[in-house]
Amino acid sequence: MQTTLAMSEKTQYYLDLEEKHGAHNYHPLPVVLNRGESVFVWDVDGKKYYDFLSGYSAVNQGHCHPKIVQTFIEQSQKLTLTSRAFHNDILGEYEKFITAYFGYDKVLPMNTGVEAVETAIKLCRKWAYEVKGIEEGKAVIVVCEGNFHGRTSTVISFSSDPQARKNFGPFAPGFEIIPYNDLTALAKALAAKNVAGFLVEPIQGEAGVLVPGEGYLANAKKLCEEANVLFIGDEIQTGLCRTGKMLACDHENVRPDILLLGKALSGGMLPVSAVLADNEIMMTIKPGEHGSTYGGNPLACKVAITALQVLKSEGMAGNAQVMGDLLRKGIESIQSPHISQVRGKGLLNAIIIDHAGKDAAWELCLQLKENGLLAKPTHGDKIRFAPPLVITREQVLDCVKIIRKSLSVLI
Ligand code: PLP
Repeated sequence: MQTTLAMSEKTQYYLDLEEKHGAHNYHPLPVVLNRGESVFVWDVDGKKYYDFLSGYSAVNQGHCHPKIVQTFIEQSQKLTLTSRAFHNDILGEYEKFITAYFGYDKVLPMNTGVEAVETAIKLCRKWAYEVKGIEEGKAVIVVCEGNFHGRTSTVISFSSDPQARKNFGPFAPGFEIIPYNDLTALAKALAAKNVAGFLVEPIQGEAGVLVPGEGYLANAKKLCEEANVLFIGDEIQTGLCRTGKMLACDHENVRPDILLLGKALSGGMLPVSAVLADNEIMMTIKPGEHGSTYGGNPLACKVAITALQVLKSEGMAGNAQVMGDLLRKGIESIQSPHISQVRGKGLLNAIIIDHAGKDAAWELCLQLKENGLLAKPTHGDKIRFAPPLVITREQVLDCVKIIRKSLSVLI
């Protein structure tokens, strides 16, 4: 089992450019894209693919969604950045819109997902010292094994992935790692008086789409309430209709005390993230204590409004739910001995590859690429299947055919 790829000269040219001049902090599939529309992307040779990664769920609304592009063009010709040294006429409109949309008192706008996580950590600690009354410098945030919340030095301090940490220390203290999907461990951790928050992904995306047992989120929220600990929902990957509801926490009617959004908040146009919370928490941060040059810029705000509007007006949560069921059923019907599990919710899914070959998942992804579908392995044997939420029934069935055909590479 070794796929030999015929690489066009054009493709090779771009691969070489990156290899020579770029840092080697990623290991991409050897495909060079230059166009996207809806669920499709095209490579530099004009070959068309289904995109089953959606920019790690940043492109939920589909590539180059015409309404989001239109907003982007209009606003970018008017005003893009003022910094927060001055007011702009879009920020307030956006803040009103997004807080009403998700039902929170306030929003703090940032850019990348990890900045939203960093903001939540700071906010949670501030609340712990100024409202809960924990002794300064002693606050602990409980996190889960297998978590992925981004790549900054603080955030990797509580990663359990050796690859994310090796030779990047020393690490920040103030975090306790407990097993995911384990309420007993959570209850035990919350018994300490200096716990400020519980930071959790409703489904662990990067870990390979680990869906916790039913009731985990609702019970975790209840335990947090009883312990006066903030439940911080990292919905950066799971939110914005990806799992078949607006938020993955909605499946269990859980309202995080601090809600983190990113990725699809701009529909893939530019980095836009948000931290939502009520006044008791958000108002602990005062002018000069936190911020970002680009956070809350008018272009990002205007684009985010449209990106959120189209999620609802085009019924993307419902479509994700129905198409996700169809996709999982379709893959299960293949009955391949090399797929040991199909799991997920809505259109956030993964298959687990069972094969003696060390690089079987990678080889399968190469074959999927040959057959017109782009996906990427995560943590060795898992392949995430997360197409844009605008995918149709016919397209899902077509993709199942491509997956079936590609599995023949695993002999
Ligand atoms: N949190 C979660 C759950 C994520 O999946 C990611 C990215 O994959 C992040 C945070 C970090 O987002 P970003 O890469 O935009 O910093």
